[in-house]
Amino acid sequence: MNAFSDLGLSPEIVSALVEQGYETPTPIQAAAIPKALAGHDLLAAAQTGTGKTAAFMLPSLERLKRYATTSTSPAMHPVRMLVLTPTRELADQIDQNVQGYLKNLSLRHTVLFGGMNMEPQKQALRAGCEIVVATVGRLLDHVQQKNIQLNKVEIVVLDEADRMLDMGFIDDIRRIMQMLPKERQTLLFSATFAPPIRRLAQDFMRAPEEISVAAQNTTSANVEQHIIAIDTGRKRALLERLILDLNMSQVIVFCKTKQSVDQVNRDLNRRGISAQAIHGDKSQQSRLETLSQFKDGSLRVLVATDVAARGLDIAELPFVINYEMPTAPEDYVHRIGRTGRAGAEGVAISLMDADEQKMFEAIKELIKKDLQVERIEGFEPRWWPQDSAPQPEREVRAPRENRGNTEGGSRRQERTAAVKRDAAKDKARAPASDAGAACHRIPGRSRRTRLQCALLQPNYGVRGE
Ligand code: AMP
Repeated sequence: MNAFSDLGLSPEIVSALVEQGYETPTPIQAAAIPKALAGHDLLAAAQTGTGKTAAFMLPSLERLKRYATTSTSPAMHPVRMLVLTPTRELADQIDQNVQGYLKNLSLRHTVLFGGMNMEPQKQALRAGCEIVVATVGRLLDHVQQKNIQLNKVEIVVLDEADRMLDMGFIDDIRRIMQMLPKERQTLLFSATFAPPIRRLAQDFMRAPEEISVAAQNTTSANVEQHIIAIDTGRKRALLERLILDLNMSQVIVFCKTKQSVDQVNRDLNRRGISAQAIHGDKSQQSRLETLSQFKDGSLRVLVATDVAARGLDIAELPFVINYEMPTAPEDYVHRIGRTGRAGAEGVAISLMDADEQKMFEAIKELIKKDLQVERIEGFEPRWWPQDSAPQPEREVRAPRENRGNTEGGSRRQERTAAVKRDAAKDKARAPASDAGAACHRIPGRSRRTRLQCALLQPNYGVRGE
């Protein structure tokens, strides 16, 4: 017996969880499992990283286990459960979790998403499988080709429903919901309950029980957050310094656009830091390969857009860097939710230039945390009021390899002129308030460098210098 059996899960499922290393239910699991087992519809506010996949999968498997059969007849394996997700990565992730959870049950599962050949998916559906995890578009393709029957579905999950709506899937979701039997259980998981989510719930759910484990749009207390004020043109150099000097062996770097993702990726590789990019223009095969290299540790940096990174679950990811602030404050929560998952600790570092201050204010407002702006010695932004913050005690010299002159003289002169022009512009954009920003050093290669900021403490991977 353990805490999972106390929630009403049977030994076959509990022993599979023990194999996965799950000892105690997370709060969302403790709240959702008994209610879902009792057959209620659920409207659950839970962010990624809270253990929400198991929160909807485990009670569903318990309810479906009466259909478990070793029969090879496809007719004995109709689709009983449908999980809809916004992205391919999330679908793949959930499917991998399902595989672990139903180890001891003779139930079949498959995953359907775009960018992959339809034929193997079609064959899996023809052979019969009880649990289908799918992205909306690809599911509809299969429906259109009559590869899938949905008339025996008993449980439907809308995972990251807010994101699906943001991505414009509302009409497709409504179409799919109308194809399902009326007699069914609907489990909706979403980071927020914005009005369109409420309308969806009203139209397609029956007296849903609401559960919420944390205030909406909060960031995990396990994640140490740093906001570093910097000039746009110095971000690239600081990114490299942070990765190298903090010895980051696994870090996701977020950018706003595919173009910046590609640019940052190229820059890092040029500097000999192994990085790969994932964004919507990459083929599914390449995204999955990159992800698996990142997960097994052979890739140091994953550079990603918000959409591509949605649903990524990398066990105990220690670092996330926001190279650019997101376009929506909610994305900040999603981004930094990649670290500090399931109780592990993490560090999220955001590089903020003058134009991104507004977004920073919106983020603070959303997460109701008064995050302090920090500066890194040697990377102080020109737009920050000079006399409002403590001056650095001394300049930290850049590491030797950064000092080399790789540019020709005329390019250097052009750059100097451009820097002067930018300085004038930056001055105009300086924050109105004179709120001071703490100035930290990142440890150089010198033994004498002091560590001044929690971000630089040894438990986050800084060499003990
Ligand atoms: P999720 O929010 O579903 O994406 O889950 C985040 C991570 O937490 C995944 O790696 C899960 O395997 C892991 N996880 C979920 N529930 C538990 C649990 N009760 N104990 C330990 N890890 C868990």
